[in-house]
Amino acid sequence: MDSVRELTLQKEDRYLSDLAQKCRDTKGRAVPEEEDALRTAYQRDRDRIIHCNAFRRLQHKTQVFLSPYGDHYRTRLTHTLEVSQIARALAVGLRANEDLTEAIALGHDLGHTPFGHAGERALDAVVSFGFHHYEQSLRVVDVIEKNGRGLNLTWEVRDGILHHTKDEFPHTLEGRLVRHADRIAYLNHDIDDAIRAGLFTEEDLPAHIRDVLGKRKSERINTLVLSTLEYTGAEVDMAPAVREAYEELNEYMFANVYTNPVCKGEEGKAVLIVQDLYNYFLQRPEEMPEDYRRIAETDSPERGACDYISGMSDRYALRMYEKLFIPSPWA
Ligand code: MG
Repeated sequence: MDSVRELTLQKEDRYLSDLAQKCRDTKGRAVPEEEDALRTAYQRDRDRIIHCNAFRRLQHKTQVFLSPYGDHYRTRLTHTLEVSQIARALAVGLRANEDLTEAIALGHDLGHTPFGHAGERALDAVVSFGFHHYEQSLRVVDVIEKNGRGLNLTWEVRDGILHHTKDEFPHTLEGRLVRHADRIAYLNHDIDDAIRAGLFTEEDLPAHIRDVLGKRKSERINTLVLSTLEYTGAEVDMAPAVREAYEELNEYMFANVYTNPVCKGEEGKAVLIVQDLYNYFLQRPEEMPEDYRRIAETDSPERGACDYISGMSDRYALRMYEKLFIPSPWA
């Protein structure tokens, strides 16, 4: 009798489009493994990501607003879940591989530093090898998780994680869908958070954007998803008018949120915290947890400190900073 996994693979053969990445055709893992009876390789990759430590730390990492007190602001974790949901909707609509899409989406931001892009820039400025969250996401799954053994993910999931942003595109349609869904998710949820923060109101969004994309978040996501389904072939695309309004929205968000002094006001402090922590542990690798001490010894002290600091959640970094640099009052 066929295993459940084999039945899933047969379903993929029958159902997925010619542009989809079938799990049968995976380039596989760096270290070959026995197949699972129940799950395909991509389903196992998704599960490994959900169960890893870095995934749980996403709940206390900044998306845009630094360590917000309000419980309704996005964190890296809720952002990741929204990306996954949008990307899977696209995958189902295009008969792409939903499991592969989900695995890439859940893993794409694992390498984000504390304090969002401010933390990323802070590390990039001090390490000699440069720091980018998408490269670090791959490093997390390849060499940091599981006490240095890594998650041994398939080639396609690793490729999608590494190429989810910046110049190079993923080799699979599923990877390109995640890349697209990431942007749909953050532009829309950041509008929601910016309104929550009082930066602007729904009615302040330029009329042209509201007319083309919609007047509420759910309407806008719906417009973007449906247009993507209609216009995507091998390459991800949308209707020209939608694409234009979407780029306009992107510019609006950069001008009003991503570079807004009100919400970026604390970022300078976040940069100093990250760099102070980095310099501290660069000088004292013996004070880091064992996994990072080992990286400092076998790779370099720079790499060990960078991996340790970049893995910290906002609140862990703040507590560590307080412990190391702020004297406790005499009790
Ligand atoms: Mg993201």
